[in-house]
Amino acid sequence: MSRYFTRDLRPYVPGEQPEDLSRFVKLNTNENPYPPSEKALAYAREHCRALNLYSDLSARELRAALAAEVGLEPENVLLSNGSDELLYFAFLAFCSAQRGAVFPDISYGFYPVFARLCGIPYREVPLRSDLSIAPEDYFDRHELVVLANPNAPTGLLLGPEDIRSILERNRDSVVLIDEAYIDFGGLSCAGLVREYDNLLVARTFSKSRSMAGARLGYAYGSAALIGDLETVRYSVNPYNVNSYTLALGLGAVLDGDYTRARCRDIQETRGYTIQMLERRGFAVLPSAANFIFARHPDIPGAALYAALKARGVLVRHFDKPRITDYNRITIGTRAQMDALLAAVDEIVRTER
Ligand SMILES: *Cc1c(COP(=O)(O)O)cnc(C)c1O
Repeated sequence: MSRYFTRDLRPYVPGEQPEDLSRFVKLNTNENPYPPSEKALAYAREHCRALNLYSDLSARELRAALAAEVGLEPENVLLSNGSDELLYFAFLAFCSAQRGAVFPDISYGFYPVFARLCGIPYREVPLRSDLSIAPEDYFDRHELVVLANPNAPTGLLLGPEDIRSILERNRDSVVLIDEAYIDFGGLSCAGLVREYDNLLVARTFSKSRSMAGARLGYAYGSAALIGDLETVRYSVNPYNVNSYTLALGLGAVLDGDYTRARCRDIQETRGYTIQMLERRGFAVLPSAANFIFARHPDIPGAALYAALKARGVLVRHFDKPRITDYNRITIGTRAQMDALLAAVDEIVRTER
């Protein structure tokens, strides 16, 4: 770091992104193994605004389409450059040195990074011993509450009644529910935006819509909350979503059948993978996401991670006390998961 750098930051550490993808079965960053829909790609080719012009500031059509998916209005939708950007906007909009944020000690690694970047105090609340979230830990906080649902990296889900209770008990502060993985088996709480003006729901095209590289995220919230986020957006980067991505995003929404079919494929492969890993002695948390969190009774998490990597299979290991026995494994295609299982078999044989 240069001698001019003034901040005390701990940047987010993304999962490895090897330059030579052909050498690895990549199950470490929860990308979708399937390409975006052909119809969406064709739509983008046809409808992308001329690139010599700035992108559409209001993107009303895409916002209307996303609003319609959950019975809301365009005023209830904000678009962002991936949902990471919108999380950043939320920390900027709803926190300050006096009003902090609270989230679980084991969750998406970006939350504490944004809190530090924004210079706001934050608290990390321990998960229960079974790694689930205790809703009552988030009652009456008087600060920004941030929860991923399903949570990452556990894959565990909170039910709609738990979300409602957290909203009820935080009427004076914003509750941000990060639904990055909700399409893989959860029930979205976006409809509650009509009842709770303190609810903000973060979504992304990166996972269920196979568009991680296009960088498109969105938020659902009351018109007032979305207005606050727009104020931040116009203070940082009004043209935050590029024209190609706007067109591709609308194409993807119009081809919802494709997304639903691929999510079903991934859920099916998830069931298969869990069954096969359990048969091999693994303990696997019940997952509502496109990844699983698994540990082997005899092989330490870091050792399994390294042994898999040596065999060309990348998964994600978090070197954190309560979860160091686990690895987070993205659900890929059936063939990718069979490659994982073959590597596991080899490792188990040599460890014995
Ligand atoms: C992947 C992920 C995101 C954000 O992804 P973007 O690509 O920036 O949309 C947000 N929250 C969680 C929990 C995630 O896993």
